[in-house]
Amino acid sequence: MDYPSRYGVIVVGGGHAGTEAALASARMGVKTLLITHNVETLGQMSCNPAIGGIGKSHLVKEIDALGGGMAVATDRGGIQFRVLNSRKGPAVRATRAQADRVLYKAAIRTLLENQPNLEIFQQAVDDLILEQETVVGVVTQMGLRFFADSVVLTAGTFLGGVIHIGLQNHSGGRAGDPPSTTLAKRLRELPFRVERLKTGTPPRIDARSVDFSVMTEQPGDTPTPVMSFMGSVDQHPRQISCYITHTNEQTHDIIRAGLDRSPMYTGVIEGVGPRYCPSIEDKINRFADKNSHQVFVEPEGLTTHELYPNGISTSLPFDVQLKLVRSIRGFEQAHIVRPGYAIEYDYFDPRDLKPSLESKFLQGIFFAGQINGTTGYEEAGAQGLLAGLNAARRSQQREAWCPRRDEAYLGVLVDDLITNGTSEPYRMFTSRAEYRLVLREDNADLRLTEKGRELGLVDDLRWARFEQKREGIAREQQRLSETWVQPGSAAAKAIDPLLEKPMTHEYSLLELLRRPQLSYAQLTEATGVGEEDPQVCEQVEIQTKYQGYIDRQAEEIERLRNHEQTLLPADLDYRAIDGLSNEIRQKLSDNRPDTLGRASRIAGVTPAAISLLLIHLKKRS
Ligand code: FAD
Repeated sequence: MDYPSRYGVIVVGGGHAGTEAALASARMGVKTLLITHNVETLGQMSCNPAIGGIGKSHLVKEIDALGGGMAVATDRGGIQFRVLNSRKGPAVRATRAQADRVLYKAAIRTLLENQPNLEIFQQAVDDLILEQETVVGVVTQMGLRFFADSVVLTAGTFLGGVIHIGLQNHSGGRAGDPPSTTLAKRLRELPFRVERLKTGTPPRIDARSVDFSVMTEQPGDTPTPVMSFMGSVDQHPRQISCYITHTNEQTHDIIRAGLDRSPMYTGVIEGVGPRYCPSIEDKINRFADKNSHQVFVEPEGLTTHELYPNGISTSLPFDVQLKLVRSIRGFEQAHIVRPGYAIEYDYFDPRDLKPSLESKFLQGIFFAGQINGTTGYEEAGAQGLLAGLNAARRSQQREAWCPRRDEAYLGVLVDDLITNGTSEPYRMFTSRAEYRLVLREDNADLRLTEKGRELGLVDDLRWARFEQKREGIAREQQRLSETWVQPGSAAAKAIDPLLEKPMTHEYSLLELLRRPQLSYAQLTEATGVGEEDPQVCEQVEIQTKYQGYIDRQAEEIERLRNHEQTLLPADLDYRAIDGLSNEIRQKLSDNRPDTLGRASRIAGVTPAAISLLLIHLKKRS
């Protein structure tokens, strides 16, 4: 049967990519349908119930700046919030929240169900409807045909999913969910390049069987951070602690003894796993000299005893899992609620996508999330938003919008994927962005909300608040530049002890704020005047203090273009270059490029790495 309504956009899959895609398309006023296997699993976190972290929070805040749901749901479901790298510069600071998976999922579902222009339908999609080279709809498992101008595919780990525990395996989309086998088969008949990847998850543990007294408690930060620009601490549920424990030599011996029954080490799994989120068996193998690894013991929610032991993802047989868990301090009596497992799934070569995330081979179909070779909710959500908005723009017969690398981490993510592709699950890091002083999590709204408004993604309330903030920043910067402190004045007397030398002539407050010794709060206290909105204060302080660095970065980037012919010494020790990721060190050591220009074209060598190479060369000369 042909479904009687026609849609502007159909989104297939209700995970993190699919929900952001559907919300974005509907926010833009386009009639949207979200079709997913199971309405109960909308926004489900397949693995670790946590949102944000280094590099990833930048994506979450960009989704938020464009009116998306992830940060909003995190504020409603977050049970432990922290700012990572808080002592480092603002470019690498990152907000991370442990989430109650039930509350998070409920928050996403509430957003979806209350979104005008959006309808939801529960059913597996088995096929695409094609007219020549254009996708015009989908066919569900029971033969229903839905038509649309554009289709967004976000099937996650479900396409041809195979779950492995030890040498046993079975088909599945993730534990407890069916795989998407018919659709996977159909997609392999179409002109897409398909490969296999794998990812894994640890066993979950019953908190009642754990001795927390021998672990290190890790409470959230005070004051509690907030994820969304529109969020507030009042929205947060009760806050609780995480804990830290460690693996030991005995754990490692147990793992080594089980490797002959590991699907990864016996060649049963062919897909490549995430380098930065390795299984415990991988860690023991790759870092053989380490006799201990950290395990973060994270609650899965406020109304469950389940714990997520972050750091011991494994696909070893269950008997080995139980032994290895029980060898860890505090887990001696642990009861495993759900076994750990690995999953292999199909992904599509993202080099076959346009920057809009539309396929180069077929019109009208957009790909987003794990199926593009990425890993992580944040990476999926960000792509989903972009694919959803561009699918909607296609339906409106408008040009696609694609952020540049200097506008957003989303731009970096998509550019990396479509330029270099990926042979292992791709995750975001701040080191992937060459413009990271400009692309901070704290200024995501200032970078993107105006664009989001123009695209029709940002509602009136957010826009009004944003304008208020932006005006507040401009007003305060103006005031600081026009307010002068005279030597010997009451304000100078309060400020002088904070400086190396007392002031000898007048300074504007803006000039004083540039000094590393002086904070905005101290200046406010000394002068008795200041802005009250903490978001305005933060921006004024960061923009003033880092302006010099930001300007220099812009010049550095400009200069990079002139270094095409710069020679790289044949004996260069890439391991000695600070800041390069292990992946890039390895690629450069293997390839040994003769010029900087050639180095920059090696797949996976980012512009940020080229910048670091330049700095290193300058230091050597
Ligand atoms: P998913 O969240 O997988 O959502 C896909 C959605 O599509 C589901 O709702 C599914 O029901 C639906 N769907 C699929 N096929 C169809 C169809 N034919 N018809 C209708 N609906 C369909 N990420 C990390 O960052 N770190 C980790 O350590 C990590 N470990 C993981 C371990 C496991 C075992 C798994 C399964 C995932 C792990 N992830 C990890 C990845 C993380 O879960 C994903 O990156 C993220 O969920 C991807 O979002 P997505 O929207 O692309 O896909």
